[in-house]
Order: sequence, then C-alpha cells, then structure tokens
Amino acid sequence: MKLAAPRVAAYTVPTDAPESDGTLAWSSTTLVLVQIEAGGCDGLGYSYADVATATLIRSALADVVEGRNALDIPGARAAMIAAIRNLGRPGIASMAIAAVDNALWDLKAKLLGMSLLDLLGAVRDSIPVYGSGGFTSYSDAQLAEQLGGWVRAGIGMVKMKVGREPARDVARVRVAREAIGAARLFVDANGAYGRAQALAMAGAFAELGVCWFEQPRPARDLDGMRLLRDRAPPGMDITAGEYGYEQADFRRLVEAGAVHVLQADATRCGGISGLLGVAALCEAFELPLSTHCAPSIHAHPLCALPPAIHGEYFHDHVRVEHMLFDGAPTPVDGALRPDRTRPGLGLALKTPDAARYAVA
Ligand SMILES: [Mg+2]
Repeated sequence: MKLAAPRVAAYTVPTDAPESDGTLAWSSTTLVLVQIEAGGCDGLGYSYADVATATLIRSALADVVEGRNALDIPGARAAMIAAIRNLGRPGIASMAIAAVDNALWDLKAKLLGMSLLDLLGAVRDSIPVYGSGGFTSYSDAQLAEQLGGWVRAGIGMVKMKVGREPARDVARVRVAREAIGAARLFVDANGAYGRAQALAMAGAFAELGVCWFEQPRPARDLDGMRLLRDRAPPGMDITAGEYGYEQADFRRLVEAGAVHVLQADATRCGGISGLLGVAALCEAFELPLSTHCAPSIHAHPLCALPPAIHGEYFHDHVRVEHMLFDGAPTPVDGALRPDRTRPGLGLALKTPDAARYAVA
C-alpha cells in the first residue's frame, strides 16, 4: 500500500466578528488541508497555519512521503523531520509535518477499516471539552452571550481571553462569572502580562473562581511561568504548551516546573505522532494533558491518551470545521464522543462548500 503524492489545499474563512486576545488581533482563519491516497482509501489531515505552509508541504515534504508504505507512519515522520533540517523545526515546518502526519493517521485507520480511536486504542469513550472564545474584542454582552450559551448547551467549562486592557480584565471576568453561574471559568492571557502584574491578576481572578490561568507570561519565559505556577492561588492551574512544536519544547516547560497542566496541539507539534510523544512525557512526569484548538482532530486521540483531561472547543475552529467537513463532532452533555462507526477521523470534506474559501 504505497502512498500517492499528497494533495494540498488551503482555505481562508473570515471570522464572524472582529477577534482579538491579549497579544494578537485577526479577522480570518486559514486551514491547510492535506489529502493522501493509498490502497483505494483517502486520508485527510490539516493544520491551522499560514498559506505558506501549503507551499512548504508541496516543495519539501510531498516527494519525501510519496511511495512509502502507508502503514509506516514513524518512517514517514522521520523522513519529513530530516527533510526540514535546514528550515528550522518550529513554526510552519512543524505545522506542515503535522498536516501530513494527521492525514497519514486518518488514512491508516481507514485502510484498516476502523476509527482513529480504535486504531489508537480507547481509554474512554468520550472526553469533556471547554467552550473557548470570549475574545477581548467582544462587548460585555457578546462575552456573556457566548460563554453563557455554552453553559446552557451543557458544557461545564468555558475560557475567555484577557490581557489586552488589563484595567478592564477583572470587570470582564466578573461579567463572565455572572453569565455562567457555577461553571468552571478559565482565562488565557496569551503572554500579555508582566510577571508582577500576572501575580496580582491571579489573585483577583481567584476571587471570581477562575481555576485555569493560561500563559500569564509567554511560555518562553520559563522562570516567569514557574513563578506563577509556584505562587498561584490554590485551585488555579497555570498552563501552557500551544506553541510547542517539537518534544524539546514540551520537555523544557516540564523541566522548568512551568505548568500544572501541559497543553499541546496536534496541528502544530508534528501531528498525532507528536501528540503521542507529548502524552508520554505527561505520563512520565504525572502531568495532566489538555489539547489546544482543532476539536475535530483531537477528539479521537483525547479518548486514547491516559493523561488527557479535556480538549478545547474553540469558537473559530468549531465554525470552520463544521463549514468544511461533514462529521465534525458536536459535544453532547459537555463531551465529545468520537463516532466509532466512521473510519479514521470520521471527516469528509464538503468540497463545493470548501471551494468558496480556497486560497491555494
Ligand atoms: Mg491559548
């Protein structure tokens, strides 16, 4: 079962409203899609990345993958990592590898006639998710409506962005708390605060029942993250990991004692193969694992990885994945339950719908 050459496309979907967090503003989301055929089956995987990632897959990875045994994902992964040596491992090179790797996992499960969850081996049938959005660009009414809407739909945890206007953050978090009642409330600063400021904010957020403080400092500030982790109020998890591209990035966070919960994103960290490595690291250090974004990619591995505690149900990606794919999962009672009757990831590209957003 030899792999055909990967086919690559990119789709840019405008957001439904202006969006920003503590350190970035955006108005669209680009999904880079890879499809690979072998043995009469077609695998599908993707990353959320710049359009340049599609170009890189075509120029640097397609030849490396074509002709390999479709079942030997570690071999394809090693060859791709070798091929991008001179390009640098972080950023789009790892996202390119991730998109191909995710397609290879989908394809392998399809070739074996099973869901990806059954290929990986389940430890649970479903995984809780947290609703994620609460952008700093939202009005208080939009914030309350979105977060409250998830809770009314049965999702027990929600996350909002903070850090763009620190003087307004406590008031915004209070709006969120009033909208969600007793549900669990997470905040994500995307590295926007200074160290002392982050410590002060942790105390103020704790009074409003915030139990998760993501990237109070940029993850690269390992000493600052460690400071927060050690001095955060009891019951508040300090978390990071979404900018991990290779195993060493996650190892540094763990070695530094920078997080209570390690986050990882299979669309960045080299795909599901990379995510399996992060899960092994979490097991070795007895750290919980939570996935970042891309719920349609993560639902299956989240149910197969022992240290996983929950996944992120991110507003933008939920919207894009339901627009582009049949089979994108929707939480029931606050949890995603992969459909094990569908092969692979259970996703099928809605080709005519997607064509409207094609950019490469
Ligand atoms: Mg984040």
